[in-house]
Amino acid sequence: MGGFMRTYKIAVIPGDGIGTEVITAGCEVLDAAAAAFGFQLDFEHFDWGSDYYRRTGKMMPDDGVERLRSFDAIYFGAVGDPHIPDAVTLWGLRLAICQGLDQYANVRPTRLLPGLTGPLRPELGAEIDWVIVRENSEGEYAGIGGRAHPGLPLEVGMDVAVFTRGGVERICRFACDLARSRPRKKLTIVTKSNAQRHGMVFWDDICRRVIADYSDLEVDWMLVDAMTTRMVLKPGTIDTVLATNLHADILSDLASAVAGSLGIGATANLDPSRSGPSMFEPIHGSAFDITGKGIANPIGSFWTAALMLEHFGEADAAGNIMQAIETTTRDGRILPPDLGGTARTSEVTRRMLDAMEKARAAA
Ligand code: ATP
Repeated sequence: MGGFMRTYKIAVIPGDGIGTEVITAGCEVLDAAAAAFGFQLDFEHFDWGSDYYRRTGKMMPDDGVERLRSFDAIYFGAVGDPHIPDAVTLWGLRLAICQGLDQYANVRPTRLLPGLTGPLRPELGAEIDWVIVRENSEGEYAGIGGRAHPGLPLEVGMDVAVFTRGGVERICRFACDLARSRPRKKLTIVTKSNAQRHGMVFWDDICRRVIADYSDLEVDWMLVDAMTTRMVLKPGTIDTVLATNLHADILSDLASAVAGSLGIGATANLDPSRSGPSMFEPIHGSAFDITGKGIANPIGSFWTAALMLEHFGEADAAGNIMQAIETTTRDGRILPPDLGGTARTSEVTRRMLDAMEKARAAA
C-alpha cells in the first residue's frame, strides 16, 4: 500500500535567523497533516544561507538551482544577516532560486485573522480578504542597469525596468485565472502609466488585451499611489490585485501592516507551468533581534505550509491547517509575544497540532 501513497519531495531551506525555528515548527505541522490525510512528505534539508556564505563565500553551491529542480516544492525560511549586505544574501539565494526556476508569479494572500486587531478600525479590518499577484521575474527588479563614471562628479547609476510581452501576458493571465477562482471574480490592475509612459503603458496595453478573454471578471484599474489609500480606506472593495514587481513589493508590505503582524503572512513563488518546483515562504525576515530566544511566531510558516499543500492539490489538509490557525488566533489564549501573548514557538506549535486534531474530529 505504501507504494501507492501520494508522496511529495520537499526541499527545506530554513536559511538565516528565526528561519530555522519557524521552519522546524512548520515541518511538524506538515508531518501531522500528512499522517492525517494519507500522503507522505519526504523532506531534504539544505543548510544554505549566510552561515554557508561565511564558510564558502557563496550563499548556495553553484549547482544549487539544478539540485532543487527535481523537488515538488521548496519550503523556505528567511534570509538576511546583520553582517552581510542584503544585496548579497537576497540575490545569492532567494532571488537566484526564484529567477533560476522561473517562479514568475508571487502570490500573497492577506486576511486579518479572527481575534487579531490590526491598525484599521475593526469593521474595516474585517473586510480585508485580498490576494496580491506580483510579477516576479522582470520589471523593475530585472537587474538591468549599471554605474558609470565611478567616483567622478558625473557618476551615474541606473536600473532599467524591463517589461516583455511574454512576461506581462503570462502574469496577467495567471492573475485573471486566480481572480476567476475566487467567489467575487474581481481583479484590480495596478499601474503608473500616467507618469511612466513607455513600460507602464505597454503593461496596460498587454493587460487590456488579456482581460478581453475574461469577460466574467469585474476588472478595474488603479494608479499605484491611489491604490495605497484605497487599501486603507476601502479595503472591502479589493479582491485580487495584479501589480509589477516593485509596486507589488510595496503594496504587500502595506498589506501585512494592515493585517496585523509580520509574523503571520505567507507567500508563494509559483511556476504555474509546473515544469519546476515552486517556493513557499513566510513573509517575515530573519529577525535577528529575537533569534535563538524560542519566541518567534510560527504562524506565518504554518500558513506557508497550507499554501504549499494547496498547490499539491491537498485541499483538505490545507484547510485543516488554516482552520487550526484561525482557532488559535480567535481563541487567543496561546499566542506568541508579537501578537500580544507570552507563548513560546513550541507552545504555539503544540496548540496548533491540537487544534488540527480537534478540527478533524469535528469534521
Ligand atoms: P530582514 O532584513 O531579513 O527582512 P528584518 O529583521 O529587517 O529582517 P523582519 O525580520 O522581517 O525584518 O522583521 C522585523 C521585525 O519584526 C523583527 O526584527 C522582529 O522583531 C519582528 N518579527 C518579524 N517576524 C517575526 C516573527 N515570525 N515572530 C516574531 N517577531 C517577528
